[in-house]
Amino acid sequence: LEEYKGKKVLIVGLAKSGLAAAKLLHRSGAEVTVNDGKEAVKEDASLQEIENLGIRLVTGDHPLSLLDEPFSVIVKNPGIPYHHPFIEKAVEKNFNIITEIELAAALCEGTMVAITGSNGKTTTTSLIQAIFKKDHREAAVAGNIGKVACEVAPQIKKNQIMVTEVSSFQLKGIQQFRPKVGVLLNIFDAHLDYHGSRNDYEQSKAKLFQNMTKEDAAVYNYDQKEVKRIAERSGAALVPFSTSSVCEGGAYIKDGMFYFKTEPVMALDRASLPGAHNKENMLAAIAAAKVLGASNEAIESALSDFHGIEHRLEFSGIVNGRKIYNDSKATNMLSTQKAIEAFEEPVVLLAGGLDRGNTFDDLIDSFQKIKAIVAYGQTRDKLAASAQEAGVTEIHRTEFLEDAVDKGFQLSESGDVLLLSPACASWDQFQTFEERGRTFIECVGKYR
Ligand code: ADP
Repeated sequence: LEEYKGKKVLIVGLAKSGLAAAKLLHRSGAEVTVNDGKEAVKEDASLQEIENLGIRLVTGDHPLSLLDEPFSVIVKNPGIPYHHPFIEKAVEKNFNIITEIELAAALCEGTMVAITGSNGKTTTTSLIQAIFKKDHREAAVAGNIGKVACEVAPQIKKNQIMVTEVSSFQLKGIQQFRPKVGVLLNIFDAHLDYHGSRNDYEQSKAKLFQNMTKEDAAVYNYDQKEVKRIAERSGAALVPFSTSSVCEGGAYIKDGMFYFKTEPVMALDRASLPGAHNKENMLAAIAAAKVLGASNEAIESALSDFHGIEHRLEFSGIVNGRKIYNDSKATNMLSTQKAIEAFEEPVVLLAGGLDRGNTFDDLIDSFQKIKAIVAYGQTRDKLAASAQEAGVTEIHRTEFLEDAVDKGFQLSESGDVLLLSPACASWDQFQTFEERGRTFIECVGKYR
């Protein structure tokens, strides 16, 4: 980051990534200003850290007058949209605006694998890391799990691998970011409020491949038209994956086996993650790992040991004969739909949470597959109504998750799946989805 030595730089939005970027740039000799919209509170450890380093702090507002100063770069927190008045003004004044992933890319000496998509990023990122670990290669992850990219990147040496998930928010601001392997999993209508239009969202995702050349690999979902189109327009070597077609340039499924190119990699039934969506994630991970030379043994060992990431359709053991799955991260209907579809066994579903004003009619098709539902929290009546529409015979309502777990045990029998997949945010009763997931597991523990 030599180029910023002695230069004025502005970090907009603190959070984890802003803090990491501020420290990095400060260490590189830049004259750093941090601007955060929230009012500073004394107890905030990040703010204290910033202050102790002697970094200038402007909080409580984003004053436009800051933009009269000659910053050579603005590092924007990915969560702040481009239509924010402060950012709009900065764009108008032709400031160079980047996000922390760009700094990370500049600092990473090793091999960068970057994963994006509307869904499945964290799972695929973890799978890829697990494969390299089994292959005895050093691989660090960054993103939602673990640390932010620009904290991890400086530690990555030449022969090491950095596996990072990148959101469309981060990709929108990239300039030179060029992963060795880029993985584009899927594009669903998510985050449209931030991007304004689907076109903008798609274009942000396309930026993953924008600087890649023939020496780099674009791993992409061959089964999704838009994804395929985006990848095929890139200059990277194409490595498709598909759950339904034999694509011999990449990863696919044939005769009960995962294949890469013309080579069988492992038997499908050795993989532990349930669900069609996880087949996609596993295929993407196989493709990315094979491109970088992972062995089939490492892949098989990693994929058969992997029980999911905490709170993401995570297999939490068999309790009293019930197969317990914690999918607390499922804060929307699409995720819950995927979770229900992942199982062949009868499913007793626990769902509910914060009422955002929507109905649950999009779940009616999936509800036709379940054995029973216990709806809890603010949305319990709405969920029960959709379950009724779907013809579910066992529909129960409780106010709290704790009671829903008890009811779930009463309604299920040995061999059934007891699934927490709320289809709602947790904030009516919990601080975070993690806390909700932990509560679920604690309550289940009574039956062990
Ligand atoms: P992300 O990091 O993109 O949010 P996660 O790996 O954390 O994704 O998975 C979150 C949820 O998204 C999962 O619980 C599952 O319901 C759903 N999901 C995961 N992978 C896929 C996929 N490939 N396609 C569609 N939905 C998926």
